[in-house]
Amino acid sequence: MSDTTKHHAGFVKPALPASALSHRELREGLFWQEIPAWQDVDEATFLDFRWQGRNSITSMDKLLAAIEGIAPRDFIEDAGRGFHLAPMSVRVTPYLLSLIDWRNPYDDPIRRQFIPLASRVLPDHPELTLDSLHEQEDMPVPGLTHRYPDKALFLALDTCPVYCRFCTRSYAVGLDTDLVDKVHLNADTARWEQIFAYIATRPELEDIVLSGGDVYNLPARHIRLIGERLLGLPNIKRIRYATKGPAVMPQKLLTDREWRDALVHVVQLGRSLRKDVVLHTHFNHANEITWITREAIGQLLEAGVHVRNQTVLQRGVNDSVEAMQQLIKRLGVIGVHPYYVYVHDLVKGVEDLRTTAQTAIDIEKGVRGATAGFNTPTFVVDTLGGGGKRDVHSYDFYDRETGIAVFRSPNVDPDRLFFFFDPIAGLSDEVRARWADPVAREQMKADAATKARAVGGWR
Ligand SMILES: *Cc1c(COP(=O)(O)O)cnc(C)c1O
Ligand code: SF4
Repeated sequence: MSDTTKHHAGFVKPALPASALSHRELREGLFWQEIPAWQDVDEATFLDFRWQGRNSITSMDKLLAAIEGIAPRDFIEDAGRGFHLAPMSVRVTPYLLSLIDWRNPYDDPIRRQFIPLASRVLPDHPELTLDSLHEQEDMPVPGLTHRYPDKALFLALDTCPVYCRFCTRSYAVGLDTDLVDKVHLNADTARWEQIFAYIATRPELEDIVLSGGDVYNLPARHIRLIGERLLGLPNIKRIRYATKGPAVMPQKLLTDREWRDALVHVVQLGRSLRKDVVLHTHFNHANEITWITREAIGQLLEAGVHVRNQTVLQRGVNDSVEAMQQLIKRLGVIGVHPYYVYVHDLVKGVEDLRTTAQTAIDIEKGVRGATAGFNTPTFVVDTLGGGGKRDVHSYDFYDRETGIAVFRSPNVDPDRLFFFFDPIAGLSDEVRARWADPVAREQMKADAATKARAVGGWR
């Protein structure tokens, strides 16, 4: 008998404690009634997407009206000052607001993503620019980023059902704020015509990511129009509609029948043409998934719509193995397929939410093996300067002391090196002083590039 078989007989895998199944326990019932302002809101009203939109929190006054008496006083003052400092306008649905733990809003993972606090602001990284991924530089026509050979990003509009503090596209998305005047990409059919025309002239394009902003805010007729036009181009084989909607307002999938029917229509049209149309969404924490989500996604699944998820790794939100595992397993239970976890980009005003690349590497190690491999996301860095997404493990050089990671991206530009920078706050005093000095800063980057060239190389 060989060593590998002799222990097999009689082996019993130890049972897991009941707590290991907590990812299956979604919030049930009328949970929003715990917010005093909504204690009389019945189920039909709360499930109405129009009610969710009308009652979304867009100003400090509205926030106060909803949480007066349940949130600590110091928190309310802190948020009032935070509203003015933020590069993104604020917009939160009643659904999300009702999922925040108002006894401890400082540490709540949903609060951290949507409600800025003045006391938590950290200085931006010196390498930060407003469009750090260079999406605008890669635009042949307004609102189409063509960076990779066979796929392109179509920014159909610049509004969303909520505004996330950490939005990578804060250069365009949302209303102008005290801090930022934005580039505007309206839902404008004349602008879209230029995009369709460009795509038609580029036979190598097969795959279009429709994003924004957020396609949840497009009327049903525009969901159809864009879908039908793209599916009508012989070169286009794959379309993804990207929306944060299911994570922030699942009600719309249940009560805006027109919108959902338009999506299902494009998916079915795609299938009849043997083309792939899927929905990409954006859950960041297991608390965002409730019975309402289960029902909304369940109905999409029944209608044959495949849903994938992209998560942004954020400090204090999902930067632990436990939190990430819970999210991934809960997505699996409702039938959403985890696709990517992004290391948080360099974004203005949200340095407090960023993690190091090493954090992503550590969490990936803890997560892989917890569930099916096809439900285990790839952890990626979207490199600065338009190098695109890279597997976080694939750096050619990574110095944890200076927080500099260097990547190659052969399909974007085989000759260039692309950088990512860890948050400045976690580095030593000595290294932070070097980052503050423009000459020393350039030297650190040049040294890292030299080392990457020496050790790395895909050719
Ligand atoms: C993310 C992205 C895509 C799609 O990339 P996948 O890795 O296929 O999801 C396409 N274009 C741009 C500019 C992107 O940022
Ligand atoms: S929904 Fe997406 S595009 Fe809109 S603010 Fe959030 S991250 Fe940005």
